[in-house]
Amino acid sequence: MLITNARVITWDKPNQILDDHAVFVQSGMIRELGPSTKLENAHPGEETIDAAGQYLLPGNICAHTHFYSAFARGMAIPGTPPRDFPAILRKLWWPLDKSLGAEDIKASAQASLVDAIKHGTTTLIDHHASPNSINGSLDLIADAVAESGLRAVLCYEVTDRDGVDKARAGIAENLRFLNRCASEPVAGGRVQATFGLHASLTLSDETLTRCRESLPAGKGFHIHAAEHEVDEYDSLQKSGTRVIDRLHQFGILGPETIVAHAIHVDAHEIKLLRESGTWVTHQPRSNMNNGVGVAEIESMWRAGVRLALGNDGFSNAMWEEWKTAYLLHKAWHRDPRRMPGDLVAEIAAYRNAELASQFFGGPPLGVISAGAYADMILVDYHPTTPLEAGNLPWHILFGFHESMVTSTIVNGSLLMHNRELLTMDEAQITARARELVPAVWERYRSFVPQD
Ligand SMILES: [Zn+2]
Repeated sequence: MLITNARVITWDKPNQILDDHAVFVQSGMIRELGPSTKLENAHPGEETIDAAGQYLLPGNICAHTHFYSAFARGMAIPGTPPRDFPAILRKLWWPLDKSLGAEDIKASAQASLVDAIKHGTTTLIDHHASPNSINGSLDLIADAVAESGLRAVLCYEVTDRDGVDKARAGIAENLRFLNRCASEPVAGGRVQATFGLHASLTLSDETLTRCRESLPAGKGFHIHAAEHEVDEYDSLQKSGTRVIDRLHQFGILGPETIVAHAIHVDAHEIKLLRESGTWVTHQPRSNMNNGVGVAEIESMWRAGVRLALGNDGFSNAMWEEWKTAYLLHKAWHRDPRRMPGDLVAEIAAYRNAELASQFFGGPPLGVISAGAYADMILVDYHPTTPLEAGNLPWHILFGFHESMVTSTIVNGSLLMHNRELLTMDEAQITARARELVPAVWERYRSFVPQD
């Protein structure tokens, strides 16, 4: 396949914007990048998409999300509104994830994946919980990802909050799915696995030890840490050490591990995160919504921590997350110099690409160059001011909208073309979700604590 007449944003280092360029795609990979006429002459008769001057750039990557949260949209929380993050867990997320059955898991994943294709997010790192439907849950999500054509990394969140048996079932589900991905290409290799853990505050020493001992070589964990002070207080009470120290002592950190949030960490914890090469993901929309504070992203960046941007189950519109990161740190510090646009791009474009590439063995993601995976989007953006590689981050922050994404391509396959979804039937998926949700919400109300 040839995509011609595009303004290509490579997100290579250094970044380049190449007018009237084309990419030649074959077997899921970008094989050539060059001027349109040159590639047209080199590949006569090739199936061609005329980008008609649109921007062609790598698909967005989401470093931390929860597909199952799709069914929380518009749901009322009974009783008094949760006063803090621990109450949000008790009154919203824990009773909701208990309410999910097999069909709900698949349908909520499908709904999230439709959203991702429409908004140009092509790789997602998911963190799943469904305590009353653990075994096989990752297969259901993998089926939805296979159908969508997108790329995803899946895990099940192990926790002791529902007792020892469910903690063990969570471990077994991670191991089963890690083994499956190691023994066969799942969705043609577009689905990969990692080992999910909820958070230190719901994990006993015994469970952490069991998880560490069972982790296959070369794999890492995906865990929430220090999202709220309570995670630190709990760790100090349980172990006498702060939460990142505790995770370090149990061998949870490392270059294959993703720690989501890291808001309430201290200087020594930042040092441990850097020294261990652990990834830290930032989810500013979720942090604002939960009122949990603001992670010291710029400090962690200066300290050399590997940072990436996630959405924590908010819409899979990653430029909205860019914009929120850009604005939040300015408001929080009352300083317009904080979190500059080029730093947002360094994290959200380059680091997200590096993190995602770790999981898909070999060819890079998140870059338009020969030899990279052919995951890309077309964006119908008409800049009113000059657009160059140097000022692109600010064009994205102030000018780009996900509604401008007209085509989404993953592994060389069109998932959306001219805003028409080609792999998923949005009307059917959302209609089925609306049929399933009333029963989920009813079960949710039966589980929610009345306080
Ligand atoms: Zn999360």
